[in-house]
Amino acid sequence: MTTTPSAPTATAPARTRPPLPPRRLPRRGRPIVADVLAALAGLGLGITLALGISAQSLHSVATLPGLLTAVGRVTGLLASYAMLVTVALSARIGPLERAIGQDRLIRWHRRLGPWGLYLLLAHVVLITVGYAGLEGTGVLHQLWLLVLTYPGMLGAAVATALLFLAGVTSYERARRRFRYETWWTIHLYTYLALLFAFAHQVDDGASFVEHPLATIWWTTIWLALLAAVLWWRFLLPVVRSLRHRIRVADVVRESPDVVSVVLEGRRLDRLPVAGGQFFQWRFLTKGAWWEAHPFSLSHVPHGDRMRITVKDLGDHSRELAGMRAGTPVFIEGPYGRFTADAALNPKVVLIGAGVGVTPLRSILQDLDEHADVAVLLRGRSREDLVLRDEIADEVRRRGGRLWEVLGPRATVRLNATTLRKALPDIHERDVFLCGPEEFTQLVAAECRRAGVPEARIHLESFVL
Ligand SMILES: Cc1cc2nc3c(=O)[nH]c(=O)nc-3n(C[C@H](O)[C@H](O)[C@H](O)COP(=O)(O)OP(=O)(O)OC[C@H]3O[C@@H](n4cnc5c(N)ncnc54)[C@H](O)[C@@H]3O)c2cc1C
Repeated sequence: MTTTPSAPTATAPARTRPPLPPRRLPRRGRPIVADVLAALAGLGLGITLALGISAQSLHSVATLPGLLTAVGRVTGLLASYAMLVTVALSARIGPLERAIGQDRLIRWHRRLGPWGLYLLLAHVVLITVGYAGLEGTGVLHQLWLLVLTYPGMLGAAVATALLFLAGVTSYERARRRFRYETWWTIHLYTYLALLFAFAHQVDDGASFVEHPLATIWWTTIWLALLAAVLWWRFLLPVVRSLRHRIRVADVVRESPDVVSVVLEGRRLDRLPVAGGQFFQWRFLTKGAWWEAHPFSLSHVPHGDRMRITVKDLGDHSRELAGMRAGTPVFIEGPYGRFTADAALNPKVVLIGAGVGVTPLRSILQDLDEHADVAVLLRGRSREDLVLRDEIADEVRRRGGRLWEVLGPRATVRLNATTLRKALPDIHERDVFLCGPEEFTQLVAAECRRAGVPEARIHLESFVL
């Protein structure tokens, strides 16, 4: 049986309840935030480079080993700066997340991450070769001496090893071999590595020793990053979770491999979340408390309830089917820009496949009452269409159009021609698209071919 958190129960009293206060919505993303932060990151890079270069003397770079050492010092600074920006991109900083979206931020994080490691490798090699030249020793012997006899260098060596471990395990091929949680735990150690790296730099770095201004600059930017991580990744989620005291209210089976988890909490209407957004959910049971998983809302908060709908895709999603009522839940978020207010005009089409319809269901709730709504659901069979009945009810209530495209992928194709045939004005609509990665990319391309401008195609695929 399919129920929604807002569905009245059979025993509900007949008298009408006072209307619920309007829900709190998240602040709109401001694109200028991205420009300002990009400018600040560029300025920071300029200052860091200037500090690194000005700390070298002409005399010290007159010989090849001296030059290698100087370049090695600058690459060390640049490596740290690249890592600082890489961590900032994944720190879930609210305004940045709202302006750019977590999926794009994570993509940039992944693109920039390797550069920090290349620069770090260059730093280690150049400094070692440079010092070996200056001291007249062998390179390996010099590396040994550096690590074991220079103050703070052992910590720096551990930091380097941890950072490379996080980098190597993040490569697509290597990552597929690990459980998500193993990869995530390894990634956590990068915070420790960055702490060691920072201590090594301010204690031993030629750019900082006897350069108080440089030390103040460096300490300030790292403290700012630490504050951002502490606030957005730890304290804000703690505050929100304590304030709303979310618990599992019910688990409803939607189909053999899909369940809805209805959640209840205090004043959920004050939780600033929009339909289509997701939280990282941590269900506080003995076996699951240590892992957080992203799930989109399939029903926006209504009074003291909201809902997620989850497909059994692995051990954790399977576990959710057995969650007991009353299980406390810790939330991080909300995240994501896949929301009704991304639409540029009131004509929209929502296209979903499989469990990808969950955020579409909650976007449907947030669309303007006068929006011209069309919904396309794709599945192998009718039983595959998650939340089909309640979506159909909502589309009917709005006087919109629903159509179902059923059958195997190999024979039933969703292309520009079929899209245009079903919806001749598709090129005038905003398209909200969610489903498996391959499906969203393919349908997005067909929408473009059908004349939908890029800016009107809004995608969510369940991959970070
Ligand atoms: C933004 C977003 C929204 C999502 N919304 C929904 C939803 O509404 N309903 C739904 O059924 N599924 C949703 N998912 C997918 C869901 O998060 C994964 O299916 C779930 O985390 C799998 O965990 P598992 O332990 O069951 O499976 P596993 O076998 O551990 O993993 C299966 C797949 O999920 C990925 N995954 C595992 N854990 C995480 C994690 N913590 N973060 C990101 N990816 C992970 C793995 O890399 C793997 O590709 C969403 C994913 C994202 C990124």
